[in-house]
Amino acid sequence: MPKNKIIHLQTEMRLCNCCGGSDLELMWSNKSIIVKSSSTWEFPVNVSICRNCGFCFSSPSPNSDDLMKYYGDGNTSYKEISLPYSIEERLRILDKYKVPDGIFVEIGGDAPGEFHRRCSKYFNQLHSIEATKDLKNKSIDINTLNESVDVISHYDVLEHVLDIKQFLLNCFSALKRGGVMICEVPNLKLYPDNLLLQEPDHVNHFTISSLNLIAEKIGFSLIDTDNNASRPHGFVAIFKKEGVDIPCKKEYKNEFIEARKYIAGALKQIHNNDIHLTNLRKKMNQLTKDGKKIILWGVTDLLRSLIKDYKFSDKAIVVDSDPRRKDDLILDGIGVSQPIKCVENFLQADLLVICAPRYASDILTWIESNTGKIFKDASLSIIGVNSHGKTLR
Ligand SMILES: [Zn+2]
Repeated sequence: MPKNKIIHLQTEMRLCNCCGGSDLELMWSNKSIIVKSSSTWEFPVNVSICRNCGFCFSSPSPNSDDLMKYYGDGNTSYKEISLPYSIEERLRILDKYKVPDGIFVEIGGDAPGEFHRRCSKYFNQLHSIEATKDLKNKSIDINTLNESVDVISHYDVLEHVLDIKQFLLNCFSALKRGGVMICEVPNLKLYPDNLLLQEPDHVNHFTISSLNLIAEKIGFSLIDTDNNASRPHGFVAIFKKEGVDIPCKKEYKNEFIEARKYIAGALKQIHNNDIHLTNLRKKMNQLTKDGKKIILWGVTDLLRSLIKDYKFSDKAIVVDSDPRRKDDLILDGIGVSQPIKCVENFLQADLLVICAPRYASDILTWIESNTGKIFKDASLSIIGVNSHGKTLR
């Protein structure tokens, strides 16, 4: 299927993974266009909160078979500029749970090479497992690990998983008694300060307590949490597979009111960002009219929103350091170039728009060292940051 055909993911009703409830309040619906290796996908987003327990998740969610096909369509983690996560933050936590003669497993590793090389001093064996089992790869099957693993970790995986309990049960079965699971996910409480609600393929939105509530039902005990995660806006929760002790039943409070507040904050942030994009689009249209040149860096959701009502001319180009993105805007009739081939364009540009805010400083450093040009003040606009310059995603 070529990239210029859109595949629509079908949706289905999804019950609460936390309490099994079906009494949901739909908070927000949206659709997102995502270009993967071989196809363009239209991704439905329906953020709901369970009225019974307050867990926030996608329902109706994409159909699980369709979601598997979507994840099977290549992976977009080509990173030339820099890794999307901090190895140091991961090692800082792993250092506390190291087992020098033990086995470490990471599920769904995103560019694990350097990370695994550096954590090899903490464990005897390291394994990677793909999060989606029907991908063609050499990774091992989690069901064969049977109580052999000392530490199992997954970083920014669980927010993508439709059947959370099955996923955690697989982790539980793979771990030895006394083994540890390290789980990092985006923190719903921080959504009012970011644009993570717009991430289409996040089908779960956790707080520490909602994650704990689900994990405890599997048999895990929460032993530690940390707000310094390896990606911005996340938290790390560390669980233990206890010995013979059965976790005591606690009273939980329904988080519905809080969850609704976080989602309302997130929607306000999305609205503010839309205003920022509208103003920037006006500025771009004026510059184009005046014959000025513009470079947009990064094929992201933010770029797609920005160019929705912007009429491209030969005065504006889009660049991305990932060469596989060259056809990603084919539906808009726009080609994507590699920055290194556009040195002349950088020298002549009047405005640089960075659409991948997390990499803004790496991008500016790259431009300065490869072209000698410094973009700042009126010649620079970074989208997806708040008024204090803090990255929103
Ligand atoms: Zn529930």
